[in-house]
Amino acid sequence: MGAIDATEIISIIKSEIENFDKVVEDREVGEVIFVGDGIVTVYGIDHAMYGEVVQFENGVKGMVQDIRENEIGIILFGRDIGIHEGMKVARTKKKAGIPVGDAFLGRVINALGEPIDGKGEIKESGYRPVENPAPGIVDRQPVDTPLETGILSIDSMFPIGRGQRELIIGDRQTGKTSIATDTILNQKGKDVICIYTAIGQKASTVARVVDILQKHDAMDYSIIVSSTASDPASLQYIAPYAATSMAEYFMHQGKDVLIVYDDLSKHAVAYRAISLLLERPPGREAYPGDVFYLHSRLLERCARLSDKEGGGSITALPIIETQSGDVSAYIPTNVISITDGQIYLESSLFYSGQRPAVNVGLSVSRVGGAAQTKAMKKSAGSIRIDLAQYREMEVFTQFASDLDDETKAQLAHGAAVMELLKQPVSSPMSMHQQVMTLVMATHGLFDDVPKANIKKVQGQLLDYLDTSYVQIGMELDEKKAITDELVDQIVKAAKEGLERFRPEEPKKEAAKDVAGPAQP
Ligand code: ATP
Ligand code: MG
Repeated sequence: MGAIDATEIISIIKSEIENFDKVVEDREVGEVIFVGDGIVTVYGIDHAMYGEVVQFENGVKGMVQDIRENEIGIILFGRDIGIHEGMKVARTKKKAGIPVGDAFLGRVINALGEPIDGKGEIKESGYRPVENPAPGIVDRQPVDTPLETGILSIDSMFPIGRGQRELIIGDRQTGKTSIATDTILNQKGKDVICIYTAIGQKASTVARVVDILQKHDAMDYSIIVSSTASDPASLQYIAPYAATSMAEYFMHQGKDVLIVYDDLSKHAVAYRAISLLLERPPGREAYPGDVFYLHSRLLERCARLSDKEGGGSITALPIIETQSGDVSAYIPTNVISITDGQIYLESSLFYSGQRPAVNVGLSVSRVGGAAQTKAMKKSAGSIRIDLAQYREMEVFTQFASDLDDETKAQLAHGAAVMELLKQPVSSPMSMHQQVMTLVMATHGLFDDVPKANIKKVQGQLLDYLDTSYVQIGMELDEKKAITDELVDQIVKAAKEGLERFRPEEPKKEAAKDVAGPAQP
């Protein structure tokens, strides 16, 4: 009995040995050896990819962010409570990504694409990795279509084209977010999909943006990707990449997209926090060495595709917050060099009531000129240089008592233009209204209007032209170009209007009637 048993066992062992296939398998499951501050170190996973999603036993997910010789560093997408030493971690072999689709329009989502507006599930039509390579040179074409912000001081002097990256930079509370939201409002009916990305913003700021967009019926064509200051640094870090993946989904269908990153300073700070926790060596201003790559690989994904690729575009409005106007700090200089120009907002202008507080001297748009409509280009003319001269002269003549008439006229003209450039929030101007305003301004029609009345008279004249001379606005909208005859017509009509409204002028108007923003 026993002998038979032994031969059976031997034969089994023999067949086992004969059929033994030596497979070297990567270990796909590891163990937590350290956890803290949203960072986990895992031992035992051999071949994780950078950016791969891993899952913990308790369901929490994370992303591989650091690959070292014997261990990997993971940033968590959830809270680290419940994760402990020795816990099992498994690879998913999937790169971090977000669900994308048309159904996301009108919704507020987090950096992982999950709805956070309480309006239920979103049916996705695809899944895109968070990180994608930027379109190559051959797949691009130069910008040639304007992306109108509806803000006179920007559209006239620093025009933005579809596919351009224009930085909005300024100290805190200088109207940066407002420029972005105004631009989104102005895209109504212009076939542009807008994505607002909040990075490390206060939840109240995000709520305000949602509220503004809802009030102006702008949510239908917008998506809000929100990572607030209370979200883990990992989510703040991936939010702009995720939002860009969403934008790419639309761009590759040939659509135009506008994306706002509010703001990249906080993005860099989130990345710095992650990197320091992952024990990467800190460099200048304690940012890790690859911080430039952080923003360049993000903004390079915003482009105007060639017609062969469908001709879609992503226009980016990244926002950077400076400290006491210091544009020469590390992160601002990085992003200035990556983008195609910047709108520089200045606190002193903002507090003096010049809002939007665009600093004409330091702002620039390097490529947008090619996309400006002919009408706008012609009527804006030399306004930028005029203003620069005015600002200089204003300083020089501050204490001078007797000025010659020419200087006085130049000062009056400059002051009138500055006044005309004031524009309250959420009141975008159409292209033809901007052109009309510029034509009237360059013909000096506002130069002898008392300063406090200028905004009011501007409103009255634009209303008058839009009601009594409808064809002028129509021709401008249609042809997007302006002839000398049309200029004459505008000037003539405006002078007529001025005569009409003149009787009202002697009455001292109360300050609150002025359409411009209240003086602080
Ligand atoms: P933060 O640094 O807090 O992000 P910000 O630079 O984004 O601020 P906003 O939040 O856009 O600035 O604006 C600050 C305040 O200024 C808001 O109350 C806004 O309504 C007001 N404001 C912005 N632009 C204008 C404007 N053109 N006219 C009048 N008020 C404005
Ligand atoms: Mg803001």
